[in-house]
Amino acid sequence: MARILDGKAIAKQVKEELRQRVSQLRETGLVPKLVVVLVGDDAASASYVRSKSRAAQDVGIDAEVIRMPANIAEDELICVLERLNKDNAVHAVLVQLPLPAHLDTDRILMHVHPAKDVDGFHPVNIGRYATGTPLLWPCTTAGILEILERSEISITGRTAVIVGRSRIVGWPTAQLLLAHNATVIQCHRRTVNLREYTRQADILVAAAGQPSLIGPDDVKVGATVIDVGINRVEGQLVGDVDFAAVEEKVGAITPVPGGVGPLTVAMLMKNTVHLAEIQKRGKEGFR
Ligand code: ADP
Repeated sequence: MARILDGKAIAKQVKEELRQRVSQLRETGLVPKLVVVLVGDDAASASYVRSKSRAAQDVGIDAEVIRMPANIAEDELICVLERLNKDNAVHAVLVQLPLPAHLDTDRILMHVHPAKDVDGFHPVNIGRYATGTPLLWPCTTAGILEILERSEISITGRTAVIVGRSRIVGWPTAQLLLAHNATVIQCHRRTVNLREYTRQADILVAAAGQPSLIGPDDVKVGATVIDVGINRVEGQLVGDVDFAAVEEKVGAITPVPGGVGPLTVAMLMKNTVHLAEIQKRGKEGFR
């Protein structure tokens, strides 16, 4: 039976460490502040935003949620972001995705200042991690590293296969594992014979949003499986991996829920504190 990588427990540990770091910062007069911009009333987004606010409160980060109507004009939203960029009390800004279809997500994300871009989606920050000088890593990707490191699973020289190439998860995760000296194979919707690749993985990251995409015949004995999928099937939350069957074959696996999800939220807090510290030091050409 596989080792279950308990994301909830690891996230708790990360948040505990952050709580101490934030309390020290508060003593120096720095109160890290995160602003979450939520457009529209998508139930799943609202629930993610709630858990982000709760986590911020938990570690002592000041969090504000700015709610906007679904029909907001693009320029109006950009004005709000520009105001946040200028506000010295705000260290981290995120726009909750997905945005309503009439808004151009790429254009909107360009207006979160790179030094406050806590999600790491601005092209400048993508460029920074692509060129080996990351300001930070996107939260889910950072969470995957935290799980691997804290579980003492080595990355160097291992074959890592990532299923998915999204800006949010797949692509940055491939870059991160490459930066940590894995041999990386990136798969996506057009990959022919996916199994041929996933079976080579020492570390398999499933980030496709497809329930039961990865079954026992798709993995190598003893592999580490990181399941990023969050799919709602018959009222239940499941990942991209057929957990019960795969667990019997692999060495370690993250559950859904309680695996990567809690780390994503914890790393949002860690990224917020990181940005607050950098801005306080006046680095990154920000002030
Ligand atoms: P996320 O943001 O969680 O990564 P997206 O829906 O934005 O999710 O992206 C899904 C990714 O998964 C895409 O890169 C797509 O190519 C990949 N993908 C989806 N279905 C499959 C599949 N059946 N096989 C391989 N890759 C897939």
